[in-house]
Amino acid sequence: MQIIWRDSADPAGYEDARVGRVFNHRRPKRYPLAVVKATCVEDIIAAVKLAKEKNCRVAVRSGGHSWAAWSVRDESILIDLGNFKQWTVDAENRVAKVTPSVTGRELNGMLVDEYRLMFPGGHCPDVGLGGFLLQGGMGWNCRGWGWACERVKAIDVVTADGEALHCNQEQNQDLYWAARGSGPGFPAVVTKYHLDLIQYPKDGLRSSGYFYPLSKYHEAFNWIVNLTPGFDQDTEIVAVGLYPRDSDEIHLFILFVTLKHTANEAQAALAPAHDSRPEGTIKEWFCKEDSLADQYVSQKKANPEAHRYCVDNAYLQNDADVPKVLEEAFTKLPHRKAFALWYAMDPCSRRELPDMALSVHSDHYFALYTVWEDERDDERCQGWVKDVMKRVHPHAVGAYLGDSDFQVRQTQYWSQSSGERLRDIRKKWDPTGRICGYLDQGDVSGIRGLDNVHA
Ligand SMILES: Cc1cc2nc3c(=O)[nH]c(=O)nc-3n(C[C@H](O)[C@H](O)[C@H](O)COP(=O)(O)OP(=O)(O)OC[C@H]3O[C@@H](n4cnc5c(N)ncnc54)[C@H](O)[C@@H]3O)c2cc1C
Repeated sequence: MQIIWRDSADPAGYEDARVGRVFNHRRPKRYPLAVVKATCVEDIIAAVKLAKEKNCRVAVRSGGHSWAAWSVRDESILIDLGNFKQWTVDAENRVAKVTPSVTGRELNGMLVDEYRLMFPGGHCPDVGLGGFLLQGGMGWNCRGWGWACERVKAIDVVTADGEALHCNQEQNQDLYWAARGSGPGFPAVVTKYHLDLIQYPKDGLRSSGYFYPLSKYHEAFNWIVNLTPGFDQDTEIVAVGLYPRDSDEIHLFILFVTLKHTANEAQAALAPAHDSRPEGTIKEWFCKEDSLADQYVSQKKANPEAHRYCVDNAYLQNDADVPKVLEEAFTKLPHRKAFALWYAMDPCSRRELPDMALSVHSDHYFALYTVWEDERDDERCQGWVKDVMKRVHPHAVGAYLGDSDFQVRQTQYWSQSSGERLRDIRKKWDPTGRICGYLDQGDVSGIRGLDNVHA
């Protein structure tokens, strides 16, 4: 087991272990006591026991894609799972057993090529399953196929006490319940996910895309919001405010990605949108051949590496006037790499959720992804996000943990009863607050957790 101690490692080696795998280049000034590069469950157990011995906290990193770098915590032992990548597939029963640092692209690359199966992991290729699934996982076609964590059948964990356990609906149910929506407050280390898989569409993915000028913003946005309820349930629908590569003007881009099995089915699914679209597109395509691999390439371009990011999000009230509430966010981006996103959640948002920690969502998911390169833009870009969110907040019912930074803003993340149950489970399994938990301002929330109030 490789341990890199802050006080004895060479500074460059320590710095690389501290933040080298953190996606957001707006690096935190937080300094773990040591980084353990785990390659097996025994390493994780040893690292937790080491933290106990040193009387310090444990932080965990799977894919390193937490926007707020939740894995980087002062005086902690950071267990980095980046070198612990394993999977096995039972294709007949459509089940995969996967370690948490495996990314969506790694898993699907193997599943699609070898078995024509897939798992709805994060849209960005390199997001780790670890953090993604703990938060719920807004994966491919979340509106139709539900939350990715609904496909978690079981987990293996190492507890805050250093014990290896299996958790599912029958044993250690409370940890299994918490693992589907607690996010970074999960009171143990997940070492393996047991996942239900889906068949990959026989003819691949298909997409339709429509770019509108801002003069068409309200008309096109209202069209897509009104079209979504009742639209084909194997189709993901998103509206994005962005600067296209070849333009200096912000556009409204509406994208449908359908995961029907045949090209004919895809065409039938996408036709109602094409036939009813408002006139005036600047560029458009209909039912174009696509694939997960190509989608990952686009996502990676939209979320480039080695950049600085500030992100926030909200679930808007179901009856909100979405285009109006989001007008400022979509039409006044502070940087040409920034974008604003509306992600349709209906009908997932209208179904009863399984009994799990994740318990708040709505028809309209909104997120701001502010992307820039130069440190001198930090204050301006972060200030803009904060400012816009102040005006969106009154129209929201809560937020998704995955795109949140509790140091900047807090709201409601779970129903009241689920929030209370989660607090009890955390106290039961981690009474001393060994696992770092939610990173609020000053990193003081400990086992108390978040207030979970939409003020
Ligand atoms: C470019 C980009 C695109 C994204 N796209 C999506 C998307 O499409 N859908 C979506 O839902 N989210 C998305 N996200 C958000 C993403 O899911 C979260 O940031 C998530 O936390 C990333 O997981 P990770 O394992 O890569 O991160 P990490 O930073 O490694 O983990 C985040 C935190 O989760 C906890 N954690 C992670 N692994 C474990 C474990 N094994 N045991 C216990 N606790 C653990 C720890 O508290 C850890 O600090 C995106 C993020 C980025 C940067």
